[in-house]
Amino acid sequence: MSSQPNSREAVKVAVRLRPFSKTESKMQYKQIIRIDQPNASAYITNPQGADVQFTYDFAFPEFCTQEEIYESTSAPIVDGVLQGINGTIFAYGQTGTGKTYTMDGDQTSKSKERGIVPRAFEHIFDYMTANAESHKFSVTVTYIELYNEQIRDLLAKSDPQQPLSIHEDPNKGFYIKGVTSKAVTSFDEIVAVQQEGRIHRVTRATKMNEESSRSHSILTINIETLTQIEGGQHVRSARLNLVDLAGSERVAKTGAEGQGFKEGVSINFALMILGNCISALTTPGHPHVPYRDSALTKLLRDSLGGNARTLMIATLGPADCNFSESMSTLRYAERAKKIENKPKVNMDPKDALLMQYQEELERL
Ligand code: ADP
Ligand code: MG
Repeated sequence: MSSQPNSREAVKVAVRLRPFSKTESKMQYKQIIRIDQPNASAYITNPQGADVQFTYDFAFPEFCTQEEIYESTSAPIVDGVLQGINGTIFAYGQTGTGKTYTMDGDQTSKSKERGIVPRAFEHIFDYMTANAESHKFSVTVTYIELYNEQIRDLLAKSDPQQPLSIHEDPNKGFYIKGVTSKAVTSFDEIVAVQQEGRIHRVTRATKMNEESSRSHSILTINIETLTQIEGGQHVRSARLNLVDLAGSERVAKTGAEGQGFKEGVSINFALMILGNCISALTTPGHPHVPYRDSALTKLLRDSLGGNARTLMIATLGPADCNFSESMSTLRYAERAKKIENKPKVNMDPKDALLMQYQEELERL
């Protein structure tokens, strides 16, 4: 990934195949997905027996480690955030294919199975410790859940609470009014904050049946860096959005399943709008992009055709019983790959101006 600010960069897309579950093995389902990792390709066998190939930036087979996935896909995004470039990592896929496993995994400290989120925490705080002499850092966290277009603050003290709303600011873009933002100063503190939010999420999910697979969660880490250079102060700020999306399967499986792949039929509303935004962004001539149609796309606006570095990890199950869901995930991911972002370093306007003068001078 280029660290050059202001250059165009496509959204990076990875697919990850999970192993057969015990139930799937017992049912003797056939494996219909094969990964060719060196060529970043996935092959899916259709019911007629032919293979269809899809190629991405990365493709991970079922035996791939959490560490390998973090190092190749996510570490460059977190490095960017530490340099002032916003980053977003999201997991997309059918329920039960490994979105949460990929994002969180086994969060026990030092477990090999820990996922992207705890590894990103470590990465950030290791960097801060190593640079504590020359830089001052301030880190805050917000953690929300979106369900049926309602925003719930997972870090709010009161529960149940009023749903929050999204406002728009000409400079900041879309933001959530009144969201709880917690300051953290160490790895242990950020883990504690996340656990607290997770407990809220789980409690609500058990109260409302099936909810967890239909809600999206966004954990956002805001990092501000203050550097003293030759008597002057330089400020950079960036945020990292870690997104665990709702399951992408159609909510009600109807008898129409055998008819094969149908796009966007009654899946989660926000995912449908996300799909529409991706469609618009990947259509030549860029027709109107309907960011405003859902809370999720408002909040991810910067990450989709905006100024962030974005990674989408699409998760897949191997079994033939999920052919149409897997096909739909592979196609969704293929379209996402065509979106271009323009990553940009967020700095103090003063610094930005200085940099611009410098570039201008070099050009002359
Ligand atoms: P999702 O969040 O997409 O609904 P989960 O992450 O909860 O799915 O995964 C469903 C089950 O499969 C969990 O028990 C999880 O531990 C297991 N699993 C998912 N991906 C993998 C993987 N790559 N390796 C081993 N187990 C996995
Ligand atoms: Mg999940």
